[in-house]
Order: sequence, then C-alpha cells, then structure tokens
Amino acid sequence: VRSRVDPRIPRRVDEVLTRSGAPRLPNGIGIDVRRILERFSRLNVKFVRGLNPGGRRLLAAYVPQFRCVFVEKDCIEARQRFSMAHELGHVELEDDFGDADSLFKTTEAFLCFEADTVTAAAGERTAGLRRRRETRANQFAALLLMPEYLVKEVWRNVGEVRRGADLLGVSKESLRYRLAGLGLIDESG
Ligand SMILES: [Zn+2]
Repeated sequence: VRSRVDPRIPRRVDEVLTRSGAPRLPNGIGIDVRRILERFSRLNVKFVRGLNPGGRRLLAAYVPQFRCVFVEKDCIEARQRFSMAHELGHVELEDDFGDADSLFKTTEAFLCFEADTVTAAAGERTAGLRRRRETRANQFAALLLMPEYLVKEVWRNVGEVRRGADLLGVSKESLRYRLAGLGLIDESG
C-alpha cells in the first residue's frame, strides 16, 4: 500500500531544489544531495563506521543541536545518499509538523534505523508519531533524489531500472517504487 504524501512535502522538496540550484553529481544527472546538505543547508555531514548506539544499527542520525548529520560509512553509496536526503527531510519538515510540544520532546536527535520498527519503551502515541516522521522523511528523500522531471528524462533515455538507478545514484528498489508511483511501470515492474 502506497502511503499518501502530504502536499507540503513535494512543495518543500521543490523549494529546496530550486533554491539550492539542484546541484548534480559528476555524471551531470544525479542530484548531489551531500552538496545540498553542506552548502545549501549548512549541515555538517560526518561519515562514521559502526553507528550502533545501544547495539542497534543506525543508517543515519541528525543532531539538531550541532546541525550535524551522521551517516553510516559501511553502507553502499546509494544507501548513504538516501540517508542524507532522509535526514534533510527531518531538517526541512519537522519544524512545521506537529505541535510545539512534540517538537521539543522529540528533536534531541533523530535516530534513523534500518527497519524502522522502534516501539521500545515508547508509548503507542509516540511510536505512531515516530513512524509518521520516518515516513515523511522517506517521502521527502525519494522526491529530492528522484524529482519527476528528472526521472522522466532518465527513463525516456535509458528505459531500464538498473542503468537509471546508476545514473540517478539511487537503489534499484527506490527507483522502481518511484517509477510505479509515477505510473511509468506497473507495481510489479
Ligand atoms: Zn529518520
């Protein structure tokens, strides 16, 4: 089941892409998300090996206090790029989602796990909030790395998931999902 996208998310993505000038990777195609984080959003990006606080494997984390994004070094590049875009999603979205109360309680750090199923000690309401936050950040990341115009252009030119994913610097799975979302392939694609 495809999750519904809050219209504020694509709006914010467009804003970031426009205002940052949508910098590209050396191949001239993929979005240079690291550059957006560092140059446009003024975040410190640190690649760290073994991001496992409390023994649970993190893909990335964002610590607002230091404007710092930590990314697991032992990950494939497409995954790291998605993580950076996901953390930027937290940065860009969480200031105008939810009430002020939730903001102060939860933004000490965003810890972003591989399979985001953390319920732990947190109550059901907190777990639900956390899941929604993670979903929003993932939606933001997918739109940032795979804006519609770019995906359509790449798809027109290569028409093949593996090659398209390489050019865009994303995983095959996320491109396939995005293509299905845009109706360019069927769900099973
Ligand atoms: Zn997250």
